[in-house]
This record gives sequence, structure tokens and C-alpha cells, in this order.
Amino acid sequence: MNFSWTDEQHAFRREVIKFAQGELNDDLIERDRNEQFFCEGWKKCAKFGIQGLPIPEEYGGGGADILTTVCALEALGYGCRDNGLIFSINAHMWSAEIPLLSFGTEEQKKQYLPRLVSGEWVGIHAMTEPGSGSDAYSLKTRAERKGDRYILNGSKTFITNAQLADMVIVFANLDPAKGPAGISAFIVEKGTPGFSISKKLHKMGLRTSPMAELAFTDCEVPAQNLLGKEGSGTAIFTASMEWERICILASHLGAMQRMLETSTSYATDRKQFGQPIGKFPAVAGKIAEMDIRLEASRLLLYKAAWLKSQGKHPLREAAIAKVFVSEACIKTAQDAIQIHGGYGYMTEFQIERELRDAISGTIYSGTTEVQKMIIAGLHGL
Ligand SMILES: Cc1cc2nc3c(=O)[nH]c(=O)nc-3n(C[C@H](O)[C@H](O)[C@H](O)COP(=O)(O)OP(=O)(O)OC[C@H]3O[C@@H](n4cnc5c(N)ncnc54)[C@H](O)[C@@H]3O)c2cc1C
Repeated sequence: MNFSWTDEQHAFRREVIKFAQGELNDDLIERDRNEQFFCEGWKKCAKFGIQGLPIPEEYGGGGADILTTVCALEALGYGCRDNGLIFSINAHMWSAEIPLLSFGTEEQKKQYLPRLVSGEWVGIHAMTEPGSGSDAYSLKTRAERKGDRYILNGSKTFITNAQLADMVIVFANLDPAKGPAGISAFIVEKGTPGFSISKKLHKMGLRTSPMAELAFTDCEVPAQNLLGKEGSGTAIFTASMEWERICILASHLGAMQRMLETSTSYATDRKQFGQPIGKFPAVAGKIAEMDIRLEASRLLLYKAAWLKSQGKHPLREAAIAKVFVSEACIKTAQDAIQIHGGYGYMTEFQIERELRDAISGTIYSGTTEVQKMIIAGLHGL
């Protein structure tokens, strides 16, 4: 076993941190308050190469392996406090770029990937519906083949980046009698008649990442916009979820490191009863627990990424990492607030936002309960 990053990965990590700290944190309190997406930050990240990290160079990407990608996203999460921006970038990478790369025709890849990688276009995926979340494959959106077109009808909810999207990968059932085997994925471009944003949604956290509901009303899509084959929707969704569950929480590792350092520094400087609060075992214990959670989270996430780099499908390891890292980040944010006392609860200190942002980690990409169902299922339950 080799637990160390290479010299190149270390150097890249430092570069990402410097870029993120220098370019991505301006006016964040205001942007969070106003639910404002950081458009400039998105473009800067794209220019730096973040959106294209794991995409092959022939489509404009960086051609990084998954471990290097995780290393860079962890560094981004450490340097950039705008968890909403990072979430939007992750959604774009794992739910639009990766399915296109893995299932797109050469023509589709050439048409969309360079624009997504360069940040010129924003890609999203739309699976969740008002009546189907965890039970995603019971979706009601219908697709019907008519000559050289598909006609889509239905609605989608909780769609990240919806208002920014230039293209959406939408999941719909072509043959409900076949159940999940009837689900297919279609590429729908912005401006296609019958495709609209029906309602903007407001969130507790990740407020700088836009979200909305989508409506498809007799939306006509050219037959060549089918992604993969008819009926391959579940395979496409599973493949993108595997990447997403491993990589989307890499930035949480960086955020946990940042909260650990901020809290340690505060516990050293803040004095009560004539001594630094960090000298009280109850406070020092929280710092130790933050470190324990960070170390365990790193090991779980790196292992899942390493298994994928070996060509395996780490269903169990990705589910374990997803549950553990998302819950660890929430607990660490709570501890950070507690260590900062009343100041931690104030917006100005930028710690309460970390908790609001972290809470969604146990919901998106499959809830904690669903991950546990997957793990228990592998034990025959
Ligand atoms: C920040 C954020 C971003 C998102 N972005 C997108 C996106 O871009 N595209 C998209 O398609 N979707 C997106 N989603 C939707 C997300 O995938 C769903 O919210 C999630 O799958 C859960 O579905 P639900 O909200 O309908 O909850 P439900 O499925 O209704 O679950 C409600 C509760 O019941 C529990 N539960 C459900 N079934 C079981 C079971 N069998 N056993 C035990 N407990 C169970 C759940 O764990 C949960 O606690 C996003 C969600 C969030 C919060």
C-alpha cells in the first residue's frame, strides 16, 4: 500500500489551493445571502482546468486519473469557501460530462464535451421528480418515439444548475410496461420548444448553487439526441452515480481540514477563565475528533477512488465513503461552531454557512438511508 501523493500531485495541490484562495472567495457572505451564483468563479475554474480534470485531452480536458482529480477537488474544497460553486462544478462534471464521455457517440462527445470542459456551457442531469426521489426508477416522465424524434412529457425537481443549463440529460421512460428497463436518457438543449424552467427553488445551504424545477411539455428531441441505447437509462445513471459518490465529497475533505485549522487557531487564541479554551479537555477533545473524522474520511474516499482507478466498480466502498464523509462533515461543522461559541453562530465568521452547506451531503447522490440499503443488500439483506 502506498498512502502518499506523488511530487507532481503535491505540486498540483498547492497550485489549486493558491488559485482557490486567491480567486474564489470574494463577497461570499453577500453571494450566499442573495443566492447568487459566482459566474466569474465558474469561468476562472474552467480556465484553470477544474471542470475538465478527468476528461481526455482530445475533448479539451486535463486527462487526469481519478486519484489526481480527487486530490485537486480536495484542494479546491480547502482553498475555496464557496461550497455552492464547488457543488455546481461537481454536478456539471459527474452528471453531464461523465455520462457523455462514457455513453455518448463520438459525434455527441465532440459536440458537447469541449464546450462543457471550457465552462462555456453548463450541463445538468434531471432524474428526480416530485413523486420519485430515492425510488428514482419509478419516474413518470414519458418519452415516445415519433419518426425521427422523441417526444418528452413530464416534470423534474431539485435540479442543480437548472437556471444556468445549456444542455440537460433527462431521464424518461419509453416503455413503462418494462419498468426500469424502459428508462432512457436524452440530451435536450436550452431553447428546445416544450422545455422550460417551471420554478426556482430556494435552499437552506449551497445557496450559491442555483436549483429549479423543469417542465417538459410535448418537447421534441431529435432521435440522434438519445444518449446510449433505448433502455440504457439505468446503466447511465448508475455509472454517473459511481463517479459522483466517490468524487463529489472530495471537496468536503478540504472543507474539514479548513474547519479543523480554523478551530485549532481559535481555540489557541480565545481565552476564558485565564487560559486558551483549547486547554480545556472538552474543547481539545473536539479538535481531536475533527482530526479523527478527517483522517478516516480521507482513507475511505481515497480507497474508493483507488479501486475505481484499478478498473473495479467499488459499489460498497463508494456507499461507505458517501455515508461516512457526508456525516463527518456535518459533525465537524457543528463542532467548529461550538468551539467558536456565539461567534460561530454569526454569519460574519463564515462557519454557520459550512453547516448549512454540509447538511445536503446526506441527501443528494442517494441519501444515507439508501447507501445503507445498498451496503446491507451486499450482505444479502
Ligand atoms: C442539494 C441537492 C441537489 C440535488 N441535485 C439534483 C440534480 O441535479 N438532479 C436530480 O435529478 N436530483 C437532484 N437532487 C435530488 C436528490 O437526488 C433527491 O433529493 C434524493 O435522491 C432523495 O429523494 P427525495 O428528496 O425525493 O426523498 P425521498 O426519496 O422521498 O426520501 C425521504 C426520506 O425517506 C428515506 N427513504 C426513502 N426510501 C427509503 C428506503 N427504502 N429505506 C429507508 N429510507 C428511505 C430517505 O432516505 C429520506 O430520509 C438534489 C438534491 C439536493 C438536496
